[in-house]
Amino acid sequence: MKIPQCSPLDNFRKKQPEILKAIGEVLESGRYILGPAVEKLEREFAAFCGCRGAIGVANGTDAVELALRSLNLPAGSLVACPDLTASATAAAIQRAGCEVLPIDLEPDTFTISPQVLHQALADFDIRAIVAVHLYGQPADLPAILSVADGRPVIEDCAQAHGALLDGRRVGVFGYCGAFSFYPTKNLGAIGDGGMIVCDDPELLENLAVLRQYGWRQRFDSAIRGVNSRLDELQAAILLVKLAELEKDNRRRREIAARYDAGFRDLPLQIPKIRPGAFPVYHQYVIRAGDRDALREFLRQRGIATAIHYPKALHQQAAFRPSVGRVFPEAEAAVREILSLPMYPELTENAVETVIAAVREFFR
Ligand SMILES: *Cc1c(COP(=O)(O)O)cnc(C)c1O
Repeated sequence: MKIPQCSPLDNFRKKQPEILKAIGEVLESGRYILGPAVEKLEREFAAFCGCRGAIGVANGTDAVELALRSLNLPAGSLVACPDLTASATAAAIQRAGCEVLPIDLEPDTFTISPQVLHQALADFDIRAIVAVHLYGQPADLPAILSVADGRPVIEDCAQAHGALLDGRRVGVFGYCGAFSFYPTKNLGAIGDGGMIVCDDPELLENLAVLRQYGWRQRFDSAIRGVNSRLDELQAAILLVKLAELEKDNRRRREIAARYDAGFRDLPLQIPKIRPGAFPVYHQYVIRAGDRDALREFLRQRGIATAIHYPKALHQQAAFRPSVGRVFPEAEAAVREILSLPMYPELTENAVETVIAAVREFFR
């Protein structure tokens, strides 16, 4: 039996008749970009997140970029973000004309450390912060917002559709929430897609202008904009999948609970959950001192794993900061983290096979 680390194909197959029907309806409608399906998805996703509105964009990187652009920061402004995240977070900051200032992690949750951020805010002229809910676990937003002291905090929710902190969905705590619908995400399109959610009608209006050439009126660019639209096909597919998101997230949590129970007595670190957090396990990430040997052992038994991520931002040439700063927690994490198979269609049998193989390694 081969067990993949994730499987967007299985997710499509589970919903195949509804998705094919939705695609057919879009094809027949003659509206292919920013039409009724996008508007419906924006309404339904905003309602799902518990906020006033949402703006569909072309991908998650653009969602972060447009959120930053809407702030009108001076070119070259420093924007802080966690040192351990998808390259996309940092690429978005650069695309918005800003400079990336990576911040070290909280070792237990792998999210941005409010203490390190607090010190960086004293040392550098940081104009905005991008917090990332990594692996589906909410970052410590109350602490981040408190140390941010009025500076805008954008939530990168690309891995956390539906996650809760103190009973509220992520994406509604800060300035706005940026989501990706990349196929492997908890809510995944069959192609690219993204969305920004927020409560401020003026910001929603501004984001809608930014995503389409800066048009306030058609054919009249009032401000510098981009082309970052969501298409009707992806929106129609996402509407089908949004209806199943809570169920899919519940299944991810069930799998995580099985893994937790199966590994609790082993010399590895299972995910630690922040008090008040309801994570949605975009990834199930363990820490193991002999990570590479464990990974190879699992590979030989047909079990695929991944490393999210093999390099922290400060270790990547494009994001290397010019100043001499240290990132002990991120550097330890990238040596020890391992993402086990995690997707809603993972069978009981496969989960048990993964647990048995990991246990065998430590015997
Ligand atoms: C996937 C992801 C993004 C970017 O999404 P794309 O849709 O691939 O542009 C941004 N941030 C994080 C943390 C992600 O995981």
